[in-house]
Amino acid sequence: MAGIYIHIPFCKQSCSYCDFHFSTSLKHKKDLIQALVKEIKAKKSHFKKEINTIYFGGGTPSLLGKNELKTIVDVLYKNYSIADKTEFTIECNPDDLSIDKLKILKEVGVNRLSIGVQSFDNDELKFFNRAHNAAEAESSIKRSQDAGFSNITIDLIYGSPILTEDVWLMNLQKVKDFDVPHLSAYSLTVEPKTALAHQIKAGETPVLSDDKMIAQFKTLIQKTAAFGMIQYEISNFGKEGFYSQHNSNYWKGEEYLGIGPSAHSYIGNKRFWNVSNNIKYINALKNNEAYYNEETIDEKTAYNEYVLTRLRTIWGIEKNYIKHNFNSKINQHFQREIQPYLNSSYIHQQNDKVVLTDNGILIADKITSDLFYV
Ligand code: SF4
Repeated sequence: MAGIYIHIPFCKQSCSYCDFHFSTSLKHKKDLIQALVKEIKAKKSHFKKEINTIYFGGGTPSLLGKNELKTIVDVLYKNYSIADKTEFTIECNPDDLSIDKLKILKEVGVNRLSIGVQSFDNDELKFFNRAHNAAEAESSIKRSQDAGFSNITIDLIYGSPILTEDVWLMNLQKVKDFDVPHLSAYSLTVEPKTALAHQIKAGETPVLSDDKMIAQFKTLIQKTAAFGMIQYEISNFGKEGFYSQHNSNYWKGEEYLGIGPSAHSYIGNKRFWNVSNNIKYINALKNNEAYYNEETIDEKTAYNEYVLTRLRTIWGIEKNYIKHNFNSKINQHFQREIQPYLNSSYIHQQNDKVVLTDNGILIADKITSDLFYV
């Protein structure tokens, strides 16, 4: 299994909490697409595996027009071995999902939509400075389903200072009402240099409440379970057969190729990351100059990454994997640190696997940091 990620670094406007790499100026869109095409071709010799997942993320890939999407998809299919039943996801903002856009997405082979709803409440959407309103969030899901997309995921955010329990319950109820088979729900975090961080610093917005966040997280777990969704990763909930294959591959340590400014790749025992600047990326590709850095992942980092990603999932940590892939010092460290948790309410063991319980999920960061080898 291997995946390709394409980063489209443009957005209509800046959401107050966002620190992803994007630009609200579309001035360099054409040049950037040419650069993406060049990188896709150039990386062909680095990545010869069969591709099972394609993921367009951003930024806002649903801003791309038909010809732009077709150009990128054509060059992908021409240069890589793409499996027949490849999961092809595109992140979309609700306000972009017109009937015409949905037709285009079908035509280029998209079979999974990731819709950035974030909330179905207008006050919250305004607070986040999102480009859509609640009515557009709802109608975009309906239109997508009418257009024949059954594999849909939506994003929701909890923990904002203005999110009440009633609105959170209403947001979750929409998942059920629209019969959306997958949900990614993230707690709001205050990233440095974002508008939200400035608002909090200036006293215009209250600081976030940990207690409220935990209460909303518990509601999330209860409600999604009642809807028949499985929490297969701490922030991801899906019905059987609708887990994100692309993200599951990340968490299972499969290789992936990232294309575009700020995109990361994981190939062999190396990690690569592209420059996080549109102009630098475009110019470097144009002039055949360096546009990425790389590092070799040492044993300690590989162990820490394994613990970090696997503990967040229902696949858990495999004790035998650790035994056979890491040196004796790391093994002893793991045995010592996991021991106090093994007979606690935080972890349960399934044969060879160590998996977080519902209680354990609430202290996942603490358990992970105890298991880290530093
Ligand atoms: S649309 Fe997505 S990537 Fe763009 S600013 Fe908002 S959260 Fe960030």
